[in-house]
Amino acid sequence: MDLSKITEIFTESVIREMTRIAHQYPGCINLAQGFPDFPAPEPIKDAAIKAIKEDINQYSITWGSESLRNAIADKVARYNKMDFVEADKNITVTCGSTEAMISSMKAIINPKDEVIIFEPFYENYGPDCLLSGAIPRYIKLYSPEWTFDFDELEVSFNEKTKAIILNTPNNPTGKVFTEKELKFIVDLCLNYDCIAMTDEIYEHILYDDHKHISIASFPEMENNSITINSISKSYSLTGWRVGWAIASERITAEIKKVHDFLTVGAPAPLQEAAAFALSLGDEYYTRLRDFYQKARDKLYNALKNTDLQPIKPGGAYYMMTNCEEYMKNYELKNSMDLAIHLVKRLGIVTVPGSSFYANPEDGQFQTRFCFCKKDETLQAASQKLVKIRS
Ligand code: GLN
Repeated sequence: MDLSKITEIFTESVIREMTRIAHQYPGCINLAQGFPDFPAPEPIKDAAIKAIKEDINQYSITWGSESLRNAIADKVARYNKMDFVEADKNITVTCGSTEAMISSMKAIINPKDEVIIFEPFYENYGPDCLLSGAIPRYIKLYSPEWTFDFDELEVSFNEKTKAIILNTPNNPTGKVFTEKELKFIVDLCLNYDCIAMTDEIYEHILYDDHKHISIASFPEMENNSITINSISKSYSLTGWRVGWAIASERITAEIKKVHDFLTVGAPAPLQEAAAFALSLGDEYYTRLRDFYQKARDKLYNALKNTDLQPIKPGGAYYMMTNCEEYMKNYELKNSMDLAIHLVKRLGIVTVPGSSFYANPEDGQFQTRFCFCKKDETLQAASQKLVKIRS
């Protein structure tokens, strides 16, 4: 019996597989999948408990509780300068940004439409394209600045281009797209009437003087953008699975239908707590940023004296490393060999670079560390890295 010809083409997520591998090596430090190892903020947890005790335990409105949609509309007007967003017209609350992305793709793609993806990319985008029938086209981000070639991007647009997926701040590179780059993408989207799908889940995790800009804040992009986000990273709540997609009323109407039949709705009490989280003041985000800035610097300093050469991220909480020297010394053939070697030799779990590229060879000398961890976890990792100082 044939099973799906589409699901046959892709594998399970390597990022999540690395967490399962971590469980097989007691005592190892999991710097693979991006989730915090410290508690979520107490007041947000209290808000969830309160919602459950108040019996907000049945389905919410399919496309999101009124309080959460109002909170999202307020926050994006305030932080993202997205003034057009109305709670009733432009928002679909989903089970995490993962669902927001696949529901959005299903809502806009026709078979053989092309979708442009910056590479390296968060691995979900590949299967998202396949599952929605799109043909992905990859545009390289060149290290160490992770810039793209404007001409290469321009020639990849054509009449079949339906969307471009943008993730800023970026996973796995930490690149924060600049205003000039975004403006260039805006013009291409408008010329070819295609949609910028922007995953902004790391919008509050920024270093040095990097600034986050939402492509939907360009007024001309109101009808050509889908902005995806969630509470996972900003509030350290990756397991709650509350996210959303923001788009024009016309696009939102389609996303809502896909979302309804895929998942019906995100967890009702957690949506109430999410609404509370979104109302937190600026000091919360300043503290979050300071915390991650220290974590980034700590991991960077630990890696820079080794042959796992780190590239400093401008945002998000991952660090890509170039490991060619190290791999030569140990005769490691590819990035999965390297990751397994690092688990066995150091007790540190990372994500093989190949999982962020369409052609695995392009990432064969890289591995990704995440640093959304307690200071003591990063301290312990730093001590392990001393063993491989070059
Ligand atoms: N974004 C996280 C990462 O890249 C993981 C998200 C997930 O596993 N759903 O590690």
